[in-house]
Amino acid sequence: MSTLNLGLQCVGLMREKGDDEFEKEASKCNSLTSLRETAKKDPNFKSAAIDSLSHVKSLLVQVLRRLKLKDKTFTPFFPASEIDIDTLWNEAIRVDSTLNREESITTKKLPGKKDLNAFLQHCCTRRHYSFQIKKCGSDSCTICRPPRLPKQVFNSLSVLPDPVPTEDGHYKSFEELLGTPTDGSFRPSLQKVKKTLPFSASIQHVKNVDMMLQCEECSMWRLLYSRCKLTRQEKVDLNDAVEDLAFTCGAPIQDLHLPGRLNDVYTRQIHCEEPIEKLYYTAKYTPICIYCAQNVDDVPADQYPQCCLCKDKPIIRK
Ligand SMILES: [Zn+2]
Ligand SMILES: [Zn+2]
Ligand SMILES: [Zn+2]
Repeated sequence: MSTLNLGLQCVGLMREKGDDEFEKEASKCNSLTSLRETAKKDPNFKSAAIDSLSHVKSLLVQVLRRLKLKDKTFTPFFPASEIDIDTLWNEAIRVDSTLNREESITTKKLPGKKDLNAFLQHCCTRRHYSFQIKKCGSDSCTICRPPRLPKQVFNSLSVLPDPVPTEDGHYKSFEELLGTPTDGSFRPSLQKVKKTLPFSASIQHVKNVDMMLQCEECSMWRLLYSRCKLTRQEKVDLNDAVEDLAFTCGAPIQDLHLPGRLNDVYTRQIHCEEPIEKLYYTAKYTPICIYCAQNVDDVPADQYPQCCLCKDKPIIRK
């Protein structure tokens, strides 16, 4: 993510001005949803919107193509076309004829979609960051139907493997794992991290920095700790350094190689979705749900706050 951020630094984004009618309609839309609603009703508006964005999109593509990670250049890809989406829907309806394009399928509704459910169980590999389908390969299967590829080619295909660690703390190579059964349990964001703070955390360590980071994955707030009290200037510098940081739970701030005493600022090595640190509440920051970081109104005296969506989770007493 930080490489991508590099590419986007110093880039101002501006779309092309469209004709007056388009601009008038566009000015009434203040979100992507309302833009989409207007585009649904008016095909002219839709093509004008696409035109007005095309320059800035090609500018971004050019910039991103110049970025590299470990000597490999980035490859931007283009969003699915209307035809691609129609094709996918037609295939999906072949899997389960009760599917309807206007109706969104949530996990709750899944049990009601028997055929889709059977398909997902039968030949799909669902992971946190990926979704893969590989037919079972049987010529008589009625769930995923026989493969159309030549048998030899079909048999040489495998689903993408999950990361598997080696004993020295690195990950096994893709080549080594391809074709072997793996599961998602070694996903980096799930790993137990052994190291924690290099000192035993107190409220003073929190107050010394008086700043938090929000995880991009789970949106939980994580405290920053420092042994010495940061000056106003150090806080400004720290804030600048983390402003564009794509932070995820447990990521060490030391990776930023910050100068001077800022290199002595730490986050606790916790996982995504783990409850908010108790020192957050000791520091008397804005009351939020300990499980999901939503703002809460009621703050009970003897237990940590839980929002109405998390009220069924176990109570954490003070
Ligand atoms: Zn099958
Ligand atoms: Zn997280
Ligand atoms: Zn909650």
